[in-house]
Amino acid sequence: MKSTTFMELSNTYSAHNYHPLPIVISRAEGIWVEDPEGNRYMDMLSAYSALNQGHRHPKIIQALKDQADMVTLTSRAFHSSTAGLFYHKLSKYTGKSKILAMNTGAEAVETAVKAVRRWAYRVKGVPENQAEIIVCDGNFHGRTITVTSFSSSPEYKKDFGPFTPGFKIIPYGDLEALEQAITPHTAAFLVEPIQGESGIMIPPKGFLKAAEALCRKHNVLLVADEIQTGFGRTGRRFASDWDDVTPDVYVMGKALGGGVMPISAIAADGEILDVFEPGSHGSTFGGNPLACAVAIAALEVLEEERLAERSERLGAYFAEKLAAIRSPLVKEIRARGLFIGLELNAAARPYCEQLMTEGLLCKETHETTIRFAPPLIIDQADIDWALERIEAVLTSV
Ligand code: PLP
Repeated sequence: MKSTTFMELSNTYSAHNYHPLPIVISRAEGIWVEDPEGNRYMDMLSAYSALNQGHRHPKIIQALKDQADMVTLTSRAFHSSTAGLFYHKLSKYTGKSKILAMNTGAEAVETAVKAVRRWAYRVKGVPENQAEIIVCDGNFHGRTITVTSFSSSPEYKKDFGPFTPGFKIIPYGDLEALEQAITPHTAAFLVEPIQGESGIMIPPKGFLKAAEALCRKHNVLLVADEIQTGFGRTGRRFASDWDDVTPDVYVMGKALGGGVMPISAIAADGEILDVFEPGSHGSTFGGNPLACAVAIAALEVLEEERLAERSERLGAYFAEKLAAIRSPLVKEIRARGLFIGLELNAAARPYCEQLMTEGLLCKETHETTIRFAPPLIIDQADIDWALERIEAVLTSV
């Protein structure tokens, strides 16, 4: 079947909750994808950073196959021979003593919200049902009703109410606003160390560190949503590491599954995660053997191939070369490792379409930003190949 047929089928039978570029991907390997007609494209989106290890990394695929031959699903009604190994591995990676595994990023955020609320009532002593969570303007934490409740984007909320109460929104990077928003009922400050969906927005220098200090001072938990920024994407293990910040709760997803299985998790110390007793939270597929085996391999690949260091080095190179392109279209470049936002003076979508015809797959975010976030296994020659095409498109106006 041809690409047009696949697209017609999707357009006919799928809800239209996305606006994909008109390309069908039928094969993929490393940083490259291919359509049914055999055209090759470089992946510059990495499934919103879920493919940090590249498409179908051999070690991760092997782990998937090996585990598929043993046991795929137990539910949490029983122990499995992979879950404990995964918790141990992620505990070492995060430096936190406990892990709670779920499937999607939004579920992990929901789990963090439940954890910090319970902590507020049971440990901090906040009166019942009065816990507050502070979040930031421009946030993106997922699409469930509770998560949508504290979005500041009207298009994410329109006609989906009524919403979940208990959240306060402050401007991103505004320390004074954070201090003013904290009350004796504040359970947590939930923050993306870099806002990805908002367009690779990096907070002012020192903000995260000062926010951490404020949280400690007021007995408020610092929850870092590292779903998009974690696992080497920004040139560090976590983006919080850039500011020498240790959140109380890490929220993780995407690349934890090595681009193969959906798996998400939160990590925190016992004082927080021990608020869950049997029956208080769960998921049929959360922590399933297949996802855990894949996640162990995904974490090993990050470490063995030193992908965070690679992201830092090649990200700096990419951003520097990008900045050297002279084009009236370019307004700003925001970059941390291979997490790069190119802010245009114009709508970004037509340029993403042009880049696609040049063989480069990127996606606009928030109208005027193009995000470049290739798999971290990319090398310098591939980046040069991409830059040639980016320059051609940006200077063709
Ligand atoms: N949090 C952040 C920072 C994200 O970037 C995303 C997805 O883009 C999510 C949460 C939601 O993750 P998922 O789409 O797996 O539910």
